[in-house]
Amino acid sequence: MKRFLLVFELLLSMRQHEIRAARTWINTMYPEKTLVHRLRLFFTWSFKTIWETIPNSNNRVQFKDPVSKTPVWLKDKNPLENHPWGNSSNFKFPERADVVVIGAGFSGAGAAYHWSKYGKKKMVVLEMNEAASGSGGRNAGVVTMGRYYYYVYNTVLKNLKKSRPDLSKKEKITTAHAFARPYVIAGIKSNKMIEQTIRNEGIECDYVKKGWVWTTSEEDKNKPFKAQQMGEEMGFTDWISISKEEAMEKAGIITSNNAGYSRGTANWHPAKWIWGLFQVALKSPDVALYTRTKVNSVKDIGNHYEIHTNRGLITARYVINATESHTPSLFKEFHDILKAGQTQAAFGNSHGGKMQQGIAISTPRMFFNRTKNGILLGSDMSVVPDKEAGKNQPSRFITKYVAAFLKPYFSIKGINITNEWSGTVGMTPDEFPLIGLQDNKRLYIVGGMAGSGSGVSFLASQFIVFKILNIDGPDYYPEKYFSPQRFFKGSRNC
Ligand SMILES: Cc1cc2nc3c(=O)[nH]c(=O)nc-3n(C[C@H](O)[C@H](O)[C@H](O)COP(=O)(O)OP(=O)(O)OC[C@H]3O[C@@H](n4cnc5c(N)ncnc54)[C@H](O)[C@@H]3O)c2cc1C
Repeated sequence: MKRFLLVFELLLSMRQHEIRAARTWINTMYPEKTLVHRLRLFFTWSFKTIWETIPNSNNRVQFKDPVSKTPVWLKDKNPLENHPWGNSSNFKFPERADVVVIGAGFSGAGAAYHWSKYGKKKMVVLEMNEAASGSGGRNAGVVTMGRYYYYVYNTVLKNLKKSRPDLSKKEKITTAHAFARPYVIAGIKSNKMIEQTIRNEGIECDYVKKGWVWTTSEEDKNKPFKAQQMGEEMGFTDWISISKEEAMEKAGIITSNNAGYSRGTANWHPAKWIWGLFQVALKSPDVALYTRTKVNSVKDIGNHYEIHTNRGLITARYVINATESHTPSLFKEFHDILKAGQTQAAFGNSHGGKMQQGIAISTPRMFFNRTKNGILLGSDMSVVPDKEAGKNQPSRFITKYVAAFLKPYFSIKGINITNEWSGTVGMTPDEFPLIGLQDNKRLYIVGGMAGSGSGVSFLASQFIVFKILNIDGPDYYPEKYFSPQRFFKGSRNC
């Protein structure tokens, strides 16, 4: 009887987002199988999840009443809250700047930091909420190395099969390698720059480098080995294959297969990274940050842009769009190019079982992180409508599902969930970022980074700052592969 009640309660808790997440699950689970086969697998999975997996974990997974929707990172004091307005009522919103950055997340903070080192004129960053209030302050706290070679290569190859049927098999392979190389090199460079910047500037953001363990399903059990082999052939040694025993030793996770392991991945407090970058940047007289300032539209008026905000009009010669999944709200032409993908996380108090501290842990569908004296867990990547970008609307069903695996994976006997939140990331049709000119004039974009914002944003924002300042540097993000123009009519790169 108790089980019936639990199942009934679970079914009643389902909302629109659970339907979307189910669609994502059906579309991405066993991609090589036919739709009918996938549907069959989905119904078997659903029955098992609702009848067994979640109810069986019911006694182990408790929820505080009420559960807070504040991301665990944002429980800490934001030193830039309501900046600059909170400090005095004398601040006047500027009418002019050389560069306006829209958005104060990873990318906006990166742009401000690099400008403070190289810029000479005024940069103004506009943020509609608070610095780090977007995905930057809602994520899992993993400092990725971007993506690993084998993953990038296979993703590009898969997309080329659809987008470039005119290419021969050999040409597709060559193109996939040609794209994978700069992407991975940029990820490594960005990661190193982050580590150096934290050290040089003394940014206190709880940075710990212990790597990332990524377990595999039975179908994908050979992938870690293939990934290591291809990476090494191409000269990249970060991503390696480890045995299930090593996965247990490093991450404390029980798995039946080999796992992938990134040596260079780290963990941090992502909001402290963003706040820290701004604190350094704001020491420069050339950088200003205005929070609680929403950009409503951007208008090209020839030599300048008019940026219309809730605080008034500001004009600038250059604009950097760092709004990520919010981009289509400001620039309608991005409706099909930058979709908002909802991901969610929860945090709870727990003794942690065998789960190791300071190491990033992923399974094919979930992520875990033992941090801040508790456990962070999460999942999902379902497309939501443009107007839902940035909404905080986590699914309790997904939290319960992920939490049910704490025992089988980590021997965790109990967790008391205190915080549960969601955020949206920017997803492009070919799954790779948009870095470069947005309009063929002086409006730039850093976006489309999906779950890899930390591995892209810091170097990408420096790349854009260098473009604006005409500073020569390596072409980390070749236009051919990273420019948004690849999705607009008449362009066919990959
Ligand atoms: C649950 C979850 C887990 C994740 N885990 C990881 C992880 O472990 N590692 C990792 O690297 N990545 C992770 N990601 C992805 C990562 O957080 C993003 O890639 C990253 O935050 C993108 O940075 P950004 O600066 O481009 O965008 P955001 O951090 O989203 O910042 C955009 C900012 O623009 C502002 N804005 C939008 N529109 C306007 C407007 N009109 N006017 C003014 N301001 C505006 C927003 O308020 C926001 O502050 C995760 C994401 C989520 C949601």
